Amino acid sequence: MVIIGSGQAGVECAVALRHEGFEGSIVMIGDEPDLPYQRPPLSKEFLKSVEDSSLPLKGEGVYSSSHIERRLGETVRRIDREAKQVELSSGERLSYDHLVIATGARNRFPPIEGLDVSKVLELRTLAHARVLTARLDGLRHVTIIGGGFIGLEVAALLRQRDIAVDVLEFADRLMGRVLSPLMSEQFLSLHAEMGTRIRLQTVAHAVAENATGFTVTLSDGDTLETDAIVMAAGVVPNAELAMEAGLEVENGVVVDEMLRTSDASISAIGDVAAHPNKWGVGRIRLESVQNAVDQGKCVAARIAGKPYEYSDLPWFWSHQGKAKLQIAGLNMGMDSSVLRGDPADGKYSVFVYRGDQLVAVESMNAPADHMVARRLLAAGVNVTKEQAADRSVDLKGMIP
Ligand code: FAD
Repeated sequence: MVIIGSGQAGVECAVALRHEGFEGSIVMIGDEPDLPYQRPPLSKEFLKSVEDSSLPLKGEGVYSSSHIERRLGETVRRIDREAKQVELSSGERLSYDHLVIATGARNRFPPIEGLDVSKVLELRTLAHARVLTARLDGLRHVTIIGGGFIGLEVAALLRQRDIAVDVLEFADRLMGRVLSPLMSEQFLSLHAEMGTRIRLQTVAHAVAENATGFTVTLSDGDTLETDAIVMAAGVVPNAELAMEAGLEVENGVVVDEMLRTSDASISAIGDVAAHPNKWGVGRIRLESVQNAVDQGKCVAARIAGKPYEYSDLPWFWSHQGKAKLQIAGLNMGMDSSVLRGDPADGKYSVFVYRGDQLVAVESMNAPADHMVARRLLAAGVNVTKEQAADRSVDLKGMIP
């Protein structure tokens, strides 16, 4: 087994292979030099105080006891499907019986006049987090491009340090791709309360460097004098290797229900995999720990002779200031939502519907709601809008 990528998906797959009883050799190649680590804390605890050493996905010992050969700090530059080999940047070639593409994603940089991307801060890797952390003390104002999860998590942390923040969001609401309008509204208020200036339907048109930082010209004609720019405008899948190898690629490496690419000897998992997801609509790519972990396990089980279709319920979380958001399910195609609880209490959930079908539950500081929602959705129990809105209805009691 050769696995390209030593992120969450690659590591889970490697470790799960051994748990499933796979006895062949496992080589995991990753271009980041660090011991494989968790990304979520980078935009949460890490910027506050966490040390690098608290981030690893698995302890060192797990790789040696599982006989997983790690080739860290090395890059795969080509997949030779005919020879069933991968070629590293060094020219070395490694043979595979089965190859797993777990190359993840990288930050997207929308074209902005005058922007020198090397001068912009971003947050995808531990290396980025170290750079950002080292800059924090000298910052008075930061412009964040993108009002998605990562941009807003960073905004909340900067506000805790009393750094002024403008967030530029192209869409007409925050986290619009993943949240109901109702929950987006709540976050808009929350960030306004924290003192962040959120500018919806606004993009950066041009950037010019000045003596202390940058002048950013916005689409509405305003200008911002800012010390730093953080790019948080979404990601693009690292699918070039697959494309050059002639595999089907469309917004990621295309896979089937078993996570096989168009070549049966190659699977793709995690952020890079465009897969049919029974909880969504059509073929999608998910960027979440749940997806990376469960897809890694699914491929490992198949290789070990215990195949099943990938059908795990998606779930996700985000921490922004005092808000601990948890989402179960996917809200694609949603057309209505119902509030359970009172936002004034700071603890509530939004039940999200496609027609009369419950498709997702967004919980704010309500972990018990989230856990119940996960179990109900996974079991296919359809909570009606009336039941969802009525707090006297015992949802836990509806779990079969
Ligand atoms: P990645 O973690 O991107 O790993 C892929 C690895 O492959 C990378 O190390 C990459 O450099 C390497 N690679 C690429 N090409 C090559 C090559 N040719 N040769 C060798 N190596 C290569 N998810 C949540 O569920 N909850 C959260 O709260 C949350 N917070 C997040 C916060 C941040 C700051 C970030 C960046 C992500 C967050 N996520 C969160 C998303 C989650 O971390 C990702 O979905 C998950 O890490 C995806 O894992 P992956 O293995 O598919 O990809």
